[in-house]
Amino acid sequence: MREFGTTVFAEMTALAVRTGAINLGQGFPDTDGPPAMLERAAAAIGGGLNQYPPGPGMPELRQAVAEHRKEHYGLVYDPDGEVLVTVGATEAVSATVLALCEAGDEVLVFEPYYDSYAAAIALAGAVRRPVALRPVDGRFAFDPDELRAAVGPRTRAILVNSPHNPTGTVFTRDELAAIAALCQEHDLIAITDEVYEHLTYDGVEHVPLATFPGMRERTVMISSAGKTFSATGWKTGWVCAPPALTTAVQSVKQFLTFTASAPWQVAVAYALRHELDWVAALRRDLSAKRDRLMEGLSAAGFGVLRPSGTYFVQTDIRPLGFADGIAFTRELPELAGVVAIPTQVFYDRPEFGRHFVRFAFCKRDEVIDEAATRLAALGRR
Ligand SMILES: *Cc1c(COP(=O)(O)O)cnc(C)c1O
Repeated sequence: MREFGTTVFAEMTALAVRTGAINLGQGFPDTDGPPAMLERAAAAIGGGLNQYPPGPGMPELRQAVAEHRKEHYGLVYDPDGEVLVTVGATEAVSATVLALCEAGDEVLVFEPYYDSYAAAIALAGAVRRPVALRPVDGRFAFDPDELRAAVGPRTRAILVNSPHNPTGTVFTRDELAAIAALCQEHDLIAITDEVYEHLTYDGVEHVPLATFPGMRERTVMISSAGKTFSATGWKTGWVCAPPALTTAVQSVKQFLTFTASAPWQVAVAYALRHELDWVAALRRDLSAKRDRLMEGLSAAGFGVLRPSGTYFVQTDIRPLGFADGIAFTRELPELAGVVAIPTQVFYDRPEFGRHFVRFAFCKRDEVIDEAATRLAALGRR
């Protein structure tokens, strides 16, 4: 695991602390989730819910997850045997890859990819096969021929993250249909990371891959409360999959963490049932924050790509006279008092992302405005 020593987030957060810069690097909100949900967690602790919950998760959360899948997507999962509660989506992805991949198996990933994927694949002794997302008409997209060409005799699974971090792309029905067709043709398992399922903008719709014909039986669908309810520190996620796949994931999960923390589970079950209006308001709010930050970045001279989902905006730094995102983000605190993340660290082939830098907009308006004011200095250099 040597190549996974320190992450860019640790480096950039330390840089923000050292320089007093505004941290638009790491993607976590600076406001809390629904108050009634927070109260439920506190009440659970006060009420004595402090011992190990069942390994698969508290029945009421599994039930609430199953109801939510059915209401939103028409997907029916049995809360007993097809839903597993995990320590965030991160554990769900790692346990799934460890459960389903043998050493030497290949896993397709769209790059740039969420950083834990590479580590999870490495932990399993599997091999990642990157397929590039490239800017086409203002959004990052893949070339279906390239995706097809990446499949080989050892390909076991494909990791699909939509809405996609770090690009903000939400895969279209056509793109998902191409992935679904490939999975069926080559008998691949789809591992879908849908943590931003509710955070899409401009009327763009998130469609789970499992809703495509023939896909429910070969998809491990993953989500989490962290992004949906602005509670990234709660690390409460879940897997929905057919019984054999769920059992396999649980047999790994039981030796990673055995079970997930109890108080958050009842609070999240409550939120899934009663706080979706709060989530709708969050989505409107985030959409306005996206526009606010995009405006500031454009005014500062960045090339700005419009994301359809997530917390993140991708920018092209070349109009500002820079070519390398790592050098740029290391200098940025001094140049403008802001911290961002160089997109190239999310690639196996960094040359595809050299000139892109990611900014997070899940912050209070005054923080975004102050960052925009500071970044305006770049254009005046
Ligand atoms: C934030 C994030 C996660 C982590 O989710 P947790 O529930 O906090 O483990 C996983 N995948 C993506 C794409 C994310 O952005």
